[in-house]
Amino acid sequence: MNTAAKSCLECSKPLKGRVDKKFCDDYCRNSYNNKLQSESSTYVRQVNVILKKNRKILEELLGQENMVKQPKVRFSDKGFQFRYHTHQYANKKGDIYYFCYEYGFLPLENEWYLIVKRKDIVPL
Ligand SMILES: [Zn+2]
Repeated sequence: MNTAAKSCLECSKPLKGRVDKKFCDDYCRNSYNNKLQSESSTYVRQVNVILKKNRKILEELLGQENMVKQPKVRFSDKGFQFRYHTHQYANKKGDIYYFCYEYGFLPLENEWYLIVKRKDIVPL
């Protein structure tokens, strides 16, 4: 068993007592957990901002069409982040569409993309 002195995860003071102890007291435990909680919700908030911005960009690029082809530069100019999407959809040909909510894009050749919109939620 590891008998090395452990320290509180919150304030780093040496811990006495049970070996499985992680915090001095409830105060340290609570402030540690609150910090974790707010860090994860900050992360979620930031990702949500990116996803909603991506969705807005796809909406703008699609306009009133059912589907439209756009070059990558049109996305980049607006700050689109290709890594962030909500889900994927593969059609029967095996083409993989990346969706930000109901708007999707399919990578084509030479850095062009096909933009589409789905109104139905399809179980994948
Ligand atoms: Zn402490």
